[in-house]
Amino acid sequence: PAILEKGVTAARQRRGQDPQAGAAFTREDLEWQIRSGGIVAHFQPIVSPADGRMKGAEVLARLRLPSGQIIGAAEFIPLAESSGLIYEVTENLFERLIESRETLAASDLTFIAVNLSPLILQQERALVLVRRLVDGFAGICSVKIEMTESAATAYPDVLRTVAAQIHLMGASLAIDDFGIGYSSMRALAELPFDTLKIDLSFVSEMFDSPKSLRLLRAMISFGQTLELQVVAEGVETEEQRGLLIEAGVDLAQGYLFGKPMTAEALASTFSVPNGD
Ligand code: C2E
Ligand code: CA
Ligand code: CA
Ligand code: CA
Repeated sequence: PAILEKGVTAARQRRGQDPQAGAAFTREDLEWQIRSGGIVAHFQPIVSPADGRMKGAEVLARLRLPSGQIIGAAEFIPLAESSGLIYEVTENLFERLIESRETLAASDLTFIAVNLSPLILQQERALVLVRRLVDGFAGICSVKIEMTESAATAYPDVLRTVAAQIHLMGASLAIDDFGIGYSSMRALAELPFDTLKIDLSFVSEMFDSPKSLRLLRAMISFGQTLELQVVAEGVETEEQRGLLIEAGVDLAQGYLFGKPMTAEALASTFSVPNGD
């Protein structure tokens, strides 16, 4: 994307490199950005849909270029994963998170949800990072680990071991992007998850046809049957919100309630209610 290239060009110029070298964002660019503190955490509120009160927040990684430009996760997480930098990204992100614990403590968060790549799931050192995060937020809020459905079902044995350790730490597990994978009902039902996050495509399509709506309802019942907390992602309109409340989702996330924002913005928008 042009915005990314502009930022990269500027960063290369500052480093005395040829701004035209390479086409897009390279591994070297990303590595340099990470090492110079470019990874930042943004937070998107996860609310109780009926009253809009914040219950938790999803942590979404961003890359802040020296120019101040913010690069979205979709623009650099896949590169981080394919170039072996995802552990460094996660480590940096968790450090930023722990640094903002006091700011977050001023909001009424009960949990923070972080995304864990399947590529680091198998590494012992990733669990050390999770442990540090849980300890860092002790007394403030709990930690939920989000894993995509495809990642979770690709390594069921690894997942079972990791899940047991995560639960022992007092953290919980969410299955992310639910409904777009290729897993069997049995595989899904047997995985040790606490929360099911319905992929935003089902929310955006729910009014396209009566069938889409029935499908969404069936997914919500599936989660309820397994006694999971059900979260709907990508809620953008009042109509979607109304239907989701009626269908019985526990929590909702989306631009209607709040876009990803800084810790300061989250804390001031969703501050602890004082005796209302
Ligand atoms: P995800 O985990 O499914 O995150 C939800 C994405 O949906 C976020 O995009 C969020 O900004 C976007 N979103 C939230 N509400 C709405 C809405 O109402 N409408 C629409 N259209 N979109 C909405 P984002 O931040 O660009 O992240 C993209 C993906 O990158 C994430 O998808 C996640 O898979 C990955 N990601 C983000 N942060 C991290 C991280 O720290 N580690 C890893 N491994 N992956 C991450
Ligand atoms: Ca997620
Ligand atoms: Ca998702
Ligand atoms: Ca997604």
